[in-house]
Amino acid sequence: MTTQPTCLYCQQANPIHETECRQCGMPLPVEAAKAGERRLRRFTWFCAGLTIFCIVMFFWLPRSIV
Ligand SMILES: [Zn+2]
Repeated sequence: MTTQPTCLYCQQANPIHETECRQCGMPLPVEAAKAGERRLRRFTWFCAGLTIFCIVMFFWLPRSIV
């Protein structure tokens, strides 16, 4: 997933690997964008793990509870 870093000051979308805003020259929040991407990836793995856990529990636990 690639997201264009947006300037916090003028909301100008800048190309990736750009360190300063093309419109106003202010430094772009590159580190924040990277951290967000890493957090999203971790969340995706968490969801995948939870899904696998649910499937395992579905087959492992007894079906008929009378
Ligand atoms: Zn700007």
